[in-house]
Amino acid sequence: MPHVITQSCCSDASCTFACPVNCIHPTPDEPGFATAEMLYVDPTTCVDCGACVTACPVDAIGPAHRLPDEHKVYIELNRSLAAADPANAVLDSPNPQQRSRPPMAHTVPPKLLPIAKDEVISVGVIGSGPAAMYAADELLRYEQVTVDVYEKLSTPYGLARFGVAPDHTRTRKVSGLFDKVAADPAFRLHLDTEVGRDIGIEELRQRHDAIVVAVGASTDKKLGIDGEDLPGVRSATDFVAWYNGHPEHRGDPIDLGHERIVIIGNGNVALDAARILTADPDELTDTTISPAALQALRSSQVEEVVIVARRGPEHAAFTLPEALGLTQQRTVVLHPDPDVAETLVAGGESELAGHKLALLESLDTRSDARRRIRLRFLTTPESIETSGDGLILRARHSLTGQPVGLPAAMVLTSVGYRGVPVPGLPFDDRACVLPNAAGRVLGDDGAPLPGVYVTGWIKRGPNGFIGTNRTDSQETVARLAEDVAAGVVTGRAAGSGKRGLRRLLGA
Ligand code: NAP
Repeated sequence: MPHVITQSCCSDASCTFACPVNCIHPTPDEPGFATAEMLYVDPTTCVDCGACVTACPVDAIGPAHRLPDEHKVYIELNRSLAAADPANAVLDSPNPQQRSRPPMAHTVPPKLLPIAKDEVISVGVIGSGPAAMYAADELLRYEQVTVDVYEKLSTPYGLARFGVAPDHTRTRKVSGLFDKVAADPAFRLHLDTEVGRDIGIEELRQRHDAIVVAVGASTDKKLGIDGEDLPGVRSATDFVAWYNGHPEHRGDPIDLGHERIVIIGNGNVALDAARILTADPDELTDTTISPAALQALRSSQVEEVVIVARRGPEHAAFTLPEALGLTQQRTVVLHPDPDVAETLVAGGESELAGHKLALLESLDTRSDARRRIRLRFLTTPESIETSGDGLILRARHSLTGQPVGLPAAMVLTSVGYRGVPVPGLPFDDRACVLPNAAGRVLGDDGAPLPGVYVTGWIKRGPNGFIGTNRTDSQETVARLAEDVAAGVVTGRAAGSGKRGLRRLLGA
């Protein structure tokens, strides 16, 4: 039986590099990679060697015959994604030799930079989240690079620690990979050091030969509707930070003493928040959830969490693996709506979208379960008002214009993260990213700022999974290496860092 990729797939593509027969797709050099909701193992070419299992940082892969019951659905999902991928058309060939694809174009980066033998390149990385740590990992493949990471909090790893839901224990294992990177003697971590407050960009540029900005998207998008700032309305990203014990949010006053909570937006953050709000607290006892959040969940009166989306199910922002996991673990109902039902019958444009719609179609439209999640589509928020001791979300049906009123104790806005400017560096106010060309930060004149690079959400916007940052950081580090080769970034005497010392000693 072949191996199978399951829910916690982080898309860091380590498995594709480890696979000796190129049976895991899309690979980073294939067109579908950037938009894939998960990778799949092609069962017809998998040789069952298990190399991918060892490579995966989040335990997302297993042999089909050993999968737990809740993951058995992924056997068929992997198979159907493989069958639907046009690049696998040759799979029909009766000749086994033709049933494998050519090897990946990926090349392992050279381990040496073209600098003098006794020099090192010192790189300062701002931020210590997934993009920063993948960048550090990539940089440290070069023998002559030292990396200093600057983190404003007193604990590292950003959203890998404070963004991943506590019950996603496999995904949280990615921190183990980052621990290994941090153990490299050429890596130094500076905690409690905020760039712009404790140290300026210019000072960092002088201290290092190059800097890589990896600060993520640290705030949330606004809806821009009346009532958004009322007490009881908060962003889902703050709510996630609260249950994960983020130092700036662990004391937030969250009141779960009411029947209904409304979440606006239906991305994976909304699903995470709804799943935690409807969890049996006993199941979270042995997780990393903050003690205050666990306590609040124990006395929670919440019966229904309504996830409201302005568009139809064919545009649902949540990914299929997350929706599958949610429906397996919680009671999820689909709010009845003839326009939604019509879309479900019409089917999806891709194999994955088709699976998503089929999943939604299989949901009941009502339930008496004590804790349930209601998915509501085609509902455009217009304002939030106070009503009695709670709130009411005023909205309209996106197609018919019919008014909708949803009473709730708390409204969470989950409409995406937003990048903020880094003091001393240019900023694209529209896209909320640092202007850049494939990772080289561009100055106001459109020319690259020598030695200044960017990666992660502050480079491409807040999308993708933890592992998406790996290929993103590889691209950025490749540009930095090109600039070293071109003499734009120059090194310094090797004795200044641990790695330099090692090199001088010939170790
Ligand atoms: P997201 O996936 O971009 O979803 C944003 C949601 O907000 C969409 O439903 C969007 O609807 C809605 N929205 C945006 N502006 C709106 C407006 N003005 N009015 C009403 N609705 C609005 O964002 P996210 O959930 O914050 O996730 C960010 C990224 O992190 C995603 O790539 C996600 O997959 C990833 N993530 C992954 C996991 C996981 O794998 N477990 C967990 C958390 C986050 P429209 O589509 O109509 O714009």
